[in-house]
Amino acid sequence: MKIALDAGHGYKANSPTGARGNNLIEDDLALKIVHKLRWYLLQAGVEVTLTRPDQAFVALGIRGTLAKSKQCDMFISIHINASSNSDASGVEALAAENDHHSADFAKKLLDVIVQHGLKRRGVKWDSQSQHSKLRVLRDTYKAMPAALLEIGFITNTCDAAKLRNEKWLDELANDLADVINSPQHTK
Ligand SMILES: [Zn+2]
Repeated sequence: MKIALDAGHGYKANSPTGARGNNLIEDDLALKIVHKLRWYLLQAGVEVTLTRPDQAFVALGIRGTLAKSKQCDMFISIHINASSNSDASGVEALAAENDHHSADFAKKLLDVIVQHGLKRRGVKWDSQSQHSKLRVLRDTYKAMPAALLEIGFITNTCDAAKLRNEKWLDELANDLADVINSPQHTK
């Protein structure tokens, strides 16, 4: 099995392009989660392609192309949400509009994350996202199940406390790797 892991955003000219809040940076958190997840997946014998392996921004169009050229069986993009309302919290998963196969895959991932104490905001179509019609999902969903996870709100103090807890991140990555490594997702 092969999986593409996509760490959202990335730095341009030494500045992060993702969200910030509570002294956390989305770009850094996404990269950290992706590397932890990669480590657990490698232990399980899963082949992992990282679309953004380090701090540097990678053009969105390149990410999906890489996942397809490596013939990955699934695509997961990792983000952290943000809101001007600091009460907004929880996890949501996005899938390309009307792709029910990806939505089922996204729900399995969401089910794991809520077990780690984040509020369930549900699975949404990408047209409902503030960044509607997410490029990385549109580029990949016809070839493989593709989900974008918004793992908590960087702007919420309770979510941020979890996101800066290494043990919480490790346990989350371990459990996500287990569900990814179950065989029923591939097309
Ligand atoms: Zn993001």
